[in-house]
Amino acid sequence: MKREEILSAIYHCVKCKLCSIVSFHPNEEWLPLCPSGQFYGYQAFYAPGKMEIFREILEGEISEPSEGLLKAVYACTLCGACYEKCKQVSSVEIRLPELFEEMRHELAVKGWALDAHRGIVEKIRETRNAYGERYEYKYRYRYKRGDREGAESPGGDADADVLYYIGCTARYRVPEIADAMLSILNKLGIRYQLMEDEWCCGSVLLRTGQVEAAKELMEHNVEEIRRSGAKRIVFTCPGCLKTFRQNYPDMGVELLHSTEFLARMHIKVDDKLDINVAYHDPCHLGRDLGIYEEPRSLLAEVAHIKQMKREREQAWCCGSGGGVKSAYDDFALWCATERLAEAREAGAEALVSACPFCKRNLREAAEIEGKGAGLGVYDIVELVNRCLKEGGARR
Ligand code: SF4
Ligand code: SF4
Repeated sequence: MKREEILSAIYHCVKCKLCSIVSFHPNEEWLPLCPSGQFYGYQAFYAPGKMEIFREILEGEISEPSEGLLKAVYACTLCGACYEKCKQVSSVEIRLPELFEEMRHELAVKGWALDAHRGIVEKIRETRNAYGERYEYKYRYRYKRGDREGAESPGGDADADVLYYIGCTARYRVPEIADAMLSILNKLGIRYQLMEDEWCCGSVLLRTGQVEAAKELMEHNVEEIRRSGAKRIVFTCPGCLKTFRQNYPDMGVELLHSTEFLARMHIKVDDKLDINVAYHDPCHLGRDLGIYEEPRSLLAEVAHIKQMKREREQAWCCGSGGGVKSAYDDFALWCATERLAEAREAGAEALVSACPFCKRNLREAAEIEGKGAGLGVYDIVELVNRCLKEGGARR
């Protein structure tokens, strides 16, 4: 974005703060919408406050950032709830998460990026994944014992049209999601390939303003995908998908989230699970990519859905996006705990998402709550995989 465009957007904000609350009518109560403002409680943490900080930076009113200023900038999950709400109540579209990413880029250029985020650049430089892990992801489902020790590399068919891009978080923090996706592909008899040398998509770098460091990753992945000859890429991570759709050059291939891909398969399940679940909209999937229906229709096939108060455009964020999990874990876990409470209030026994980032953070919060109080936390593909038999049918 150009400087004039940014300042014009900032000056269009009337500081009404309606972007901090869910619309009153559907629930007949004022529910919070902005995790950052709600947790920290100061004006600077809400969207208009962050914009005021950006104005001050751009107009040269800040020469050295204080710790508090950095926290107001970076303790924001870039969930986009403020943007959606502002769009509803004002006649001007202020693209807030984009502005906040620009602000972080401005800070990174000045050398003010957080150490936690600089550390991710280092890890990616050394290992090509955001967690600095040096081992290979292994596929577990082919082994009855289920332990990853004896598991094997996933394989696949090098000339398949479908390529599954696993992503750092499903590889190294919630491998059960990658396991489930691969198991579904195998059960449905869909030929797939994996990237020979998959690198981080660069999402975390772009969201934390470290744009330059993302370029090499993107170039590598584009080259690998072109060489693969794949026609469709499937993602279980909405963050990777958003990055490929919005930040990568057009590679002439179809980019699909797992729920879009599987909804098109019209999977037939014989036995639905006897469980009440709430569906948590991942911010990148819902607000950023407008994918609300496919996860719901897929989930309705395998479980009984209970509705939460804050859903779709006004969903409460899980708390882990935008570099928050790595820099402000207490805030990230608080957001997740709030979401678990909402799911429980809706009568759910489990909270289901469609994003490895969401699952990881929600699961951690559920574990802290303890076994008795905690809810089950799943990704949709895990439940679909559970219901699907070997040689699973499509309608
Ligand atoms: S709703 Fe829009 S105009 Fe109102 S404070 Fe939020 S960003 Fe500014
Ligand atoms: S992106 Fe989310 S956390 Fe950040 S200011 Fe907007 S509503 Fe708050």
